[in-house]
Amino acid sequence: MPEPQVTLTPRGARRLLLGHHWVYRSDIQATDNLEPGDTVRLRDPGGRFLGKAWFSSRSQIAVRLIVRDDVPIDDDYLRRALQAAARFRQRVVENATAYRLVYGESDGLPTLIVDRYADTLVLQTLSQATERRQETFVRLLEELFHPTAILERNDPKVRLLEGLEQRVGVLAGSYDGEIEACENGRRFGYDLLHGQKTGAFLDQRENRGAAAGYIRGELLDCFCYTGGFALTAAAQASSVEGIDLSPAAVAAAQRNAERNQITNATFREANAFDVLKQYDEAGRRFDAVVLDPPAFAKNRASLPAARRGYKEINLRALKILRPGGLLVTCSCSHHVPESLLLEIVAEAAVDARRQLVVLERRTQARDHPILLTMPETHYLKALFLGVLS
Ligand code: SAH
Repeated sequence: MPEPQVTLTPRGARRLLLGHHWVYRSDIQATDNLEPGDTVRLRDPGGRFLGKAWFSSRSQIAVRLIVRDDVPIDDDYLRRALQAAARFRQRVVENATAYRLVYGESDGLPTLIVDRYADTLVLQTLSQATERRQETFVRLLEELFHPTAILERNDPKVRLLEGLEQRVGVLAGSYDGEIEACENGRRFGYDLLHGQKTGAFLDQRENRGAAAGYIRGELLDCFCYTGGFALTAAAQASSVEGIDLSPAAVAAAQRNAERNQITNATFREANAFDVLKQYDEAGRRFDAVVLDPPAFAKNRASLPAARRGYKEINLRALKILRPGGLLVTCSCSHHVPESLLLEIVAEAAVDARRQLVVLERRTQARDHPILLTMPETHYLKALFLGVLS
């Protein structure tokens, strides 16, 4: 049976032709009868075929492009897309057994996320279309990768916009509560059912490795989660201190230090805003500070408050850094582009009377590939700044 058709407005068609992968509901001119999650044929107002897409009956993003060619979206297509995603990771993932295997749109599988933690896979199906095909994805992942277990972390809020419930659990195989995997030559434990995101912030892996190359002396790792930046740098540093608001994260960081026989690391549960202020006022100084906060700007409306938050932590961090020190400052808010983060840190540097040089302007690890024509796939910014004086 031929797939149902969706006709775009001229504006919707233009957007797609300019390289974007999403079409908003307001850019749809007409549709056949559609079910949630249907695969549809996209056409311009003149009837010209534009590609195959997945339809959502609820999200403002009404269709998400799968492919621009007129090919069937069947098991064979999905299998080939998963294989291509895996081949790409073989090229770009170095020295790690935990990484993102599938990153949605960037892998031609919109809203499908698959993270690999050693032999266990964690799945997110974030739209009606991938939800509807979840059993197929589980079957194909088993066939291609023979994982010990497949879990689902379908608890991100975006699922609510699709009218989908929040769900976490084991979909296949057996999982006993913790996985050990490695990155940058260190071993880490991962709690895949209860940890943040799918268990870890895999997107910072390359930045953790690169930062370690610069870090010497005393490091303060604010928003440390399970200790990634601190423990990766611990061998080069004289001491590392990690701060996180989450007791579970701090306990995991301590276990990760033991796992790697690291003895110069301390982790504690505290609010990074308070700690930075206390250290500043007490005259405590560090040679390196890492700021990797959660997204302060979840939407445009929260941008002014987010700006103040980023300014505050960057200002404090600069005040407690010794000359010759390193600031690693990050933002994972899509609404804070790199130019804005640079502007905020520049303001903080002027206020703190510090002279900085930009050593590196980095982004998410390459297993979270950024689509050139789709800015939404780029969300992580990580600036490495040297303190001259
Ligand atoms: N750097 C980490 C990831 C950090 S994610 C890594 O490489 O793995 C952001 C972390 O900030 C989360 O662990 C969250 O628990 C923590 N957090 C959120 N608000 C905080 C606050 N005010 N003070 C300290 N930690 C906070």
